[in-house]
Amino acid sequence: MDSRDLNDRAAWLRGPSAECSVVPKRLEQPWRLVLLGPPGVGKGTQAHLLTQRLGACHLSTGDVFREAKTRNERQQTLAMSAALNHMCRGTLVPEAVVWQVIRERATCLRCQSGFILDGFPRTLAQAKVLKLLIENERLSLDAVVNYELPFAEIVSRLSGRRTCQKCKAIFHLTAQPPRTEGVCDLCCGPLYQREDDRPEAITVRLNAYQSSTAPLIQFYRNLGMLTPVVASGSPEEIFRRTATALEKRRKFDCDPFASCADSN
Ligand code: AMP
Repeated sequence: MDSRDLNDRAAWLRGPSAECSVVPKRLEQPWRLVLLGPPGVGKGTQAHLLTQRLGACHLSTGDVFREAKTRNERQQTLAMSAALNHMCRGTLVPEAVVWQVIRERATCLRCQSGFILDGFPRTLAQAKVLKLLIENERLSLDAVVNYELPFAEIVSRLSGRRTCQKCKAIFHLTAQPPRTEGVCDLCCGPLYQREDDRPEAITVRLNAYQSSTAPLIQFYRNLGMLTPVVASGSPEEIFRRTATALEKRRKFDCDPFASCADSN
């Protein structure tokens, strides 16, 4: 297995007091990407595939909030408990909490193996501050990948999605069912339906996307960074399109369709 698979992203998921299980590899030209697109379009799955190929760390703000939810209430600040209520309803977490989360994890943006941001930025204000943060570090984004899919297909994907409680692998009841019902193929952990993947929360999330996140498409288009990718088909098909689109921006330093570890 590629050693990069073993990185448990502890510093990102649990904050600065935790250390990642694997020291990130220093890459000569690390990739720094933002993944955009409506909820359920497959950003998490693509981030995982990109991580395996590029070695960059998968930084998902949604995963940070879900991780916080697993801690007991006494370990949570009042602001974080309020934020988790927003997440369960499908509304956006208040900006102040998002900024605290990002500030505490700023070292992950400097990670020597690069990063793949998933679920952040989600508002124009977040995108503008991220731009400043990255510029202050004298870093730059390689691309902003925008995954595109009709809303009807998104609703079907979200309502059938099941996530592994342990390793966070993603399955789908019909499109990608696990070998044994309710059990993760990869680590045998239990599969569950995220609270915000229930029908009442899906509509709220899609509305939040339309009003707050969709304007980012124009923002990044104006900066010349937008890389559109059609998100229909299997995860592997979508990954191939992503790799082809990214290669037009910058050559991969290994075959994007084989594990980078194989070619090192
Ligand atoms: P995700 O896993 O990216 O779909 O995120 C799950 C939920 O976490 C979202 O529906 C929001 O409630 C919250 N969330 C994640 N990232 C952000 C963000 N950047 N800004 C505000 N809320 C967020």
